[in-house]
Amino acid sequence: MARIAILLNDRCHPKECQWECQAYCPPVRMGQECIVEGPNGKPIISETLCIGCGICVHKCPFDAIKILNTPEADESEIVHRYGYNGFRLYRLPLPTPKGIIGLLGPNGTGKSTALRVLAGIEVPNLGDYEHPASWDKVLARYRGTALHAHLSKIARGELRAAIKPQYVDRLSDEPFTAEGYVAAGGTADPTSALAQVGLASKAGRKLSELSGGELQLTAIARTISADADLYLFDEPSSYLDIVHRLEIARVLRRLGESHSVLVVEHDLALLDYLADQAHLVYGEEAAFGVISHPLPMRTAVNTYLNGYLKDENVRFRTEAVRFIAHPPKPPAHRNIAVRFGPLEKSFPEFRLRVGGGELAKGETIGIVGPNATGKTTFVRMLAGAETPSEGSPPKGVTVSYKPQYLKATQSASLRERVTALAADPSFDARLFERELVPGLHLDGLLDVALPDLSGGELQRGAVALAMARTATLYLLDEPSAYLDSDERMSMARLVRRQVERTGTTALVVDHDVYFLDLACDGLMVFQPEGTDGREGRGEGPFAMREGMNQLLRHVEITFRRDAETLRPRINQEGSVLDREQRSRGEYYYEPAA
Ligand code: ADP
Ligand code: ADP
Ligand code: MG
Ligand code: MG
Repeated sequence: MARIAILLNDRCHPKECQWECQAYCPPVRMGQECIVEGPNGKPIISETLCIGCGICVHKCPFDAIKILNTPEADESEIVHRYGYNGFRLYRLPLPTPKGIIGLLGPNGTGKSTALRVLAGIEVPNLGDYEHPASWDKVLARYRGTALHAHLSKIARGELRAAIKPQYVDRLSDEPFTAEGYVAAGGTADPTSALAQVGLASKAGRKLSELSGGELQLTAIARTISADADLYLFDEPSSYLDIVHRLEIARVLRRLGESHSVLVVEHDLALLDYLADQAHLVYGEEAAFGVISHPLPMRTAVNTYLNGYLKDENVRFRTEAVRFIAHPPKPPAHRNIAVRFGPLEKSFPEFRLRVGGGELAKGETIGIVGPNATGKTTFVRMLAGAETPSEGSPPKGVTVSYKPQYLKATQSASLRERVTALAADPSFDARLFERELVPGLHLDGLLDVALPDLSGGELQRGAVALAMARTATLYLLDEPSAYLDSDERMSMARLVRRQVERTGTTALVVDHDVYFLDLACDGLMVFQPEGTDGREGRGEGPFAMREGMNQLLRHVEITFRRDAETLRPRINQEGSVLDREQRSRGEYYYEPAA
């Protein structure tokens, strides 16, 4: 095993520090050139001279350095390396002639890089970042392997790949209508492609006028309708509501029946249903990533949840994730903390009505439903950020609110925010440091300026700040957005435990079934009402099973529970179980025997 030294370029600000990394480095103090100034004015850390003491990691005021050991993977398996102190990817996934292959792994471990390499967008440098990469070198390296045929076709331009990029929000700058953008992908019939993803009515809209979910559907329509041999989807569920996630799952499955498809996805219910096999990706964010051998889908997810990959003797989590078949709580034990509604809110183009409901102490209640049905508006009314048109928000309830859309406006770091809040009696700095920082893996992020954080890092920071407030009601609007599967599951568990332990209540708007299943005791269900999406109605809370039944009836999808892990699994459409459960109206899962 060798050592890897990583410099996170975006976080390194060499003009704003005292070069603590260099000043305190023991080999430097012994006269060795272990850390030197590079041509870009930033440090270069020598991996051969580094003794692995970790002092620079702790001294850097911006948390910009990582020192770790190389993975079990062989150095000869390195596919691509972004510079000397940059990220490195080991191995590649193998596309099959048809069927869907999944990629499942944490943020920053090279999944998007792997897709770009397979699509021929990025020529991999095989670890040699000092010389230009070339397909000749790549083909020489892969001679005699299963990937050789694929890579040589890509190199010769004989294999056409269509890719749905990860960051669809960037499309809003493109000067197209939805239809024009889909047509530019090569299809003669953009209208029917948009109809397949349920977006026919928005065909003439400019991309700049579409919501995040609509941009995602447009990008998916373009990719599925392209004439290609290989289809790659990088995080297709972002910005999509639970209903659209299940619908595009069907569209992609149909594509996979006759084509080769690869999907990177963090919504485990979706990926589990979509893919036939998956490669697990393990490693260290922004440092290295290793692509495992492919596993059958059920095994892949169960292995991921257990946290141990036996074939390669790799443990990627210390604790296994366990699902429970929710025991229904007897109503007598519910200690009501909040009574709300009925509430109404009228906007010029939209009216929301929410029936009255009760929330008990220690309960986490999920809020589910399609986009634009008023979930955020409801949460904002409870938070006091929106005044109801009818009815009044509950009185005597203190709330802590994590809004759906986050923006890092101040350049402060999380640590500076917490210090500023120290005098505020409603902020529990001890809880923040002792429970929330480790629970949400914020250790290495406390000194980073908020605008330098990635979407997922900012999300975890915002949830931690919200949960550290003393309140009777926690309102979290889409906390799993931008998180990888692992972070979703640890956040779900943390919110649930915290609320149970303190006898408080949480309302959580989310679209990820595993997140909801792990976190929630019950559900509120929001549905569109009337014609043309101008009305929304919210009901509940209901028990989990009842809430899921209400939601899933409309999408005609049924879930069973996995015998080994008790996780929910989507039934194959038309399977015996699917038909039987539908006929009995049991869309979610069987009550525990
Ligand atoms: P994933 O899709 O698994 O989140 P990516 O393939 O996007 O991972 O990136 C893996 C790591 O590679 C990132 O954390 C980043 O540090 C680094 N990286 C990605 N693209 C570049 C690039 N163009 N230049 C330098 N580093 C990059
Ligand atoms: P959800 O969170 O379920 O996606 P929202 O509560 O954000 O739904 O929005 C529901 C509807 O209300 C949308 O059609 C949105 O355009 C509209 N809406 C939300 N806030 C306002 C506002 N301040 N003024 C006018 N319309 C609004
Ligand atoms: Mg990615
Ligand atoms: Mg919302």
